[in-house]
Amino acid sequence: MASSAETQKPFPQPAAGYTQSFWRTELDVLDSHRSTPELPKETDILIIGGGYAGASAAYHLFPEDQQGTTPNVVLLEARELCSGATGRNGGHLRPDLYSMTSTYTERYGIEAAVEVVRFEISHMKKIEEFVRKEKIDCDLTFTRSYDIYLDADHLAAAKGFYDFLVGQGLDFIDDIKYLSQEDAEGTAKVRGAKGGFSFSAGHLWPYKLIAGLIRIAVSRGLNLQTKTMVTEIGQARTPEGLWPVTTDRGIINARKIILATNAFTSALAPEYSKAIVPCKGLCTHIEAAPGAPYQQLPETYAIRRGPGAFIYQISRKDGSIIVGGAQYTYKDAHEQWHNNPDDGTLIKNVENYFDGYMQRTFFGWENSQATVKHKWTGVMGYSADSLPHIGDIPGKPGQFIAAGFNGHGMPVIFLCGKAIAQMARQSMPFEETGLPKLFETSAARLDPVYNDTLG
Ligand SMILES: Cc1cc2nc3c(=O)[nH]c(=O)nc-3n(C[C@H](O)[C@H](O)[C@H](O)COP(=O)(O)OP(=O)(O)OC[C@H]3O[C@@H](n4cnc5c(N)ncnc54)[C@H](O)[C@@H]3O)c2cc1C
Repeated sequence: MASSAETQKPFPQPAAGYTQSFWRTELDVLDSHRSTPELPKETDILIIGGGYAGASAAYHLFPEDQQGTTPNVVLLEARELCSGATGRNGGHLRPDLYSMTSTYTERYGIEAAVEVVRFEISHMKKIEEFVRKEKIDCDLTFTRSYDIYLDADHLAAAKGFYDFLVGQGLDFIDDIKYLSQEDAEGTAKVRGAKGGFSFSAGHLWPYKLIAGLIRIAVSRGLNLQTKTMVTEIGQARTPEGLWPVTTDRGIINARKIILATNAFTSALAPEYSKAIVPCKGLCTHIEAAPGAPYQQLPETYAIRRGPGAFIYQISRKDGSIIVGGAQYTYKDAHEQWHNNPDDGTLIKNVENYFDGYMQRTFFGWENSQATVKHKWTGVMGYSADSLPHIGDIPGKPGQFIAAGFNGHGMPVIFLCGKAIAQMARQSMPFEETGLPKLFETSAARLDPVYNDTLG
């Protein structure tokens, strides 16, 4: 007989301990909440995962103008609320207007690629409306984002694609401004910049957004169960048509399941093991010394050293900086980050990289005495084709997925959560959700043609 250690699936479920993220320094009252002391035995809809995707699905399953019978909805989160990638990210809300668009255009054609861009732009509006309407205190700030290139050839390639988009006469292109070397060094203040672009973007406190969504859902009837790890979803439904779901607190039977497990999806749905791979990233919080002079940087940044080598950055209202990335420093050391779900440890090759980063990178920070106050890792769900997987899980009626958001979930998840809620609650077909066609999960995408996960 197998021992319990052998029957458990240790990989790639969320690690038990984790590094301390800045965003989790102010915890919500619901952080370790359980709506009922016991796990319900049965539910209409079960959401697995308490990050942005699970929270958005939960919020949208309980619309303000609910019609018909309200379903029973339970959300299971293995650790505390928003303790995965969403609680450990860069807080950058930045639509991708031309970067991956180039890859998608090559692979799928300009129409499909532009559908993704338009979706991300529309998403910014929706988030703004939601945050204002529900009065969520999450530091949502809209500004410009600088995309700065340090390598002239890389910049020339990006400018070539930008010129191609301009030639297409696309409506969103007017928002993108090309920056000369003088602008990139003088206005954006980046040392050694060769040029770049700027466009509209934003930033926020991701944990507070998720807590806001969950508070509303709980107030409308969501049963939230934190610190409850799902270890298995049964392979067949019960005679009553329910999926048996095993957790470390017993079994719950669910008519429908939404997998919002992102990086950790393949532990519960092994068919996604090639399509969504857990990949670690590192992020930091940096502050200038009290009273020391430093240049305010109200815009957000991506600073690119070359293809695939970039650093993302936002400034908070208090002048402190959230900055992370620099994957190029550890990209070749696969064991440190690739297919690695452990956010309990830092990434060796990059863990000291951000010491002195602001002083080396920006004019006006030379005397700031800026130091790293927090550094942490998080696990992203890198998808093989860089696109999220949304929709019906192939061959599993009543099971849905919203996962595989890469390092780019903030400008897409709110509406993906809405779509998956509509599919689960109202049996809405994917085509009617308004999501880009490329986001739909499918059997073909489970055996991927591309492997973007290695960068
Ligand atoms: C360091 C870092 C920086 C990033 N920066 C940005 C950024 O600036 N902008 C941006 O757009 N994106 C960024 N991202 C990506 C972004 O954070 C993700 O795309 C997004 O948060 C994914 O949300 P999610 O809800 O799908 O996943 P998560 O937030 O990871 O939520 C999944 C949840 O499922 C739970 N779970 C998994 N398995 C189980 C199980 N078996 N049982 C119960 N619960 C389970 C996990 O514990 C987790 O809480 C970054 C990510 C990282 C790690």
